[in-house]
Amino acid sequence: QQQQCVALIVGVTGLVGNSLAEMLPLSDTPGGPWKVYGVARRPRPSWNEDHPINYISCDVSNTAEVEAKLPPLSDVTHIFYATWTSRSSEEENCEANGKMLKNVLDTMIPNCPNLKHICLQTGRFHYVASVVDWKINGSHDTPLTEDLPRLNTNNFYYTQEDILLEEVKRKEGLTWSVHRPGTIFGFSPYSMMNLVGTLCVYAAICKQEGAVLRFPGCKGAWDGYSDCADADLIAEHYIWAALDPHAKNQSFNVSNGDVFKWKHLWKVLAEQFGVECGGYEYEEGQQVRLQDVMKDKGPVWDKIVRENGLSNTKLEDVGKWWFSDTILWNECRLDSMNKSKEHGFLGFRNSKNCFLYWIHKLKAYKIVPSSTIS
Ligand code: NAD
Repeated sequence: QQQQCVALIVGVTGLVGNSLAEMLPLSDTPGGPWKVYGVARRPRPSWNEDHPINYISCDVSNTAEVEAKLPPLSDVTHIFYATWTSRSSEEENCEANGKMLKNVLDTMIPNCPNLKHICLQTGRFHYVASVVDWKINGSHDTPLTEDLPRLNTNNFYYTQEDILLEEVKRKEGLTWSVHRPGTIFGFSPYSMMNLVGTLCVYAAICKQEGAVLRFPGCKGAWDGYSDCADADLIAEHYIWAALDPHAKNQSFNVSNGDVFKWKHLWKVLAEQFGVECGGYEYEEGQQVRLQDVMKDKGPVWDKIVRENGLSNTKLEDVGKWWFSDTILWNECRLDSMNKSKEHGFLGFRNSKNCFLYWIHKLKAYKIVPSSTIS
């Protein structure tokens, strides 16, 4: 009889962690039904409770906590690592994120005799800039391909890759894959970078205040081509890399495989929240940023939550304005999915449908209001 696949998802309440937690236990998932352990820092939130997984609350930046809580999970066969922490400089990011990954691998690799594969999620900043500093200078020309050399800058993704490649040497036959998504469209009110959730919150506030849904970004983002990565698609990509011999010991981009323009998705967003659709309307050089526009809207959000019977959230948890400003105030740097396809991953998503899907999910879980009545 074949050995059951046993997953450890690190970051199980995040965008991709939540998708993996939903997908892995299903019987029609490749390798499934998987037994799943899911780790996140905080107690289990209600919106993650439907998934039949073993939830472990553990701060992986705390070495003693990891050494106390993870060793009993000795039947793990695959690790899916999709978490990160943010510090004020990229140097500190490298240290903090390197330590988190190392804590997990130092504990799990010697403790799990059947461990076969480790998936690490990094991202497109690998080719573009450091996550915190967003220095686009020196970024590679597009479309971005996996064989491009590293930029001459600090980047915690590089630190994590180096640690991963060093750690897998500790166990013969242990394989790895690195997954580099661009902007992720998914569901997680706990995410530090949730663009769809953030834009829904912005639209709900505009609706509440009777304001037009202006586009808080640059002309290049409004008119130009962008792409994104559906969290469920990334989960499928992980599972493919975990099981398919052709995907071993490789780094892969992961995106939906199509392009969109924000001016088209903006209409969808306006319709979903029953607000008047604005557009790109700023004078050259005048940058309207959600970080400024939304900074005093906490009480408005509290009122929206109360009046609509929403899940109890604070504006700073669900409105990640800095992230929206980063994405929408830069032209999207498109990647190539050729390597994934050439190695056998043919998954894709229609980005407009994907945008709608995650908006509907945020409404269904009462994170944002579902009424569109004007
Ligand atoms: P996320 O912020 O959505 O989720 C992170 C998860 O990790 C959550 O479950 C959180 O509770 C958990 N977590 C945080 N700190 C922890 C700790 N100390 N101990 C245990 N659990 C902890 O994650 P994400 O956005 O999917 O990010 C994962 C990786 O993907 C990061 O490297 C990020 O830079 C990259 N990425 C994200 C995006 C995006 O749009 N969000 C795009 C490209 C790349």
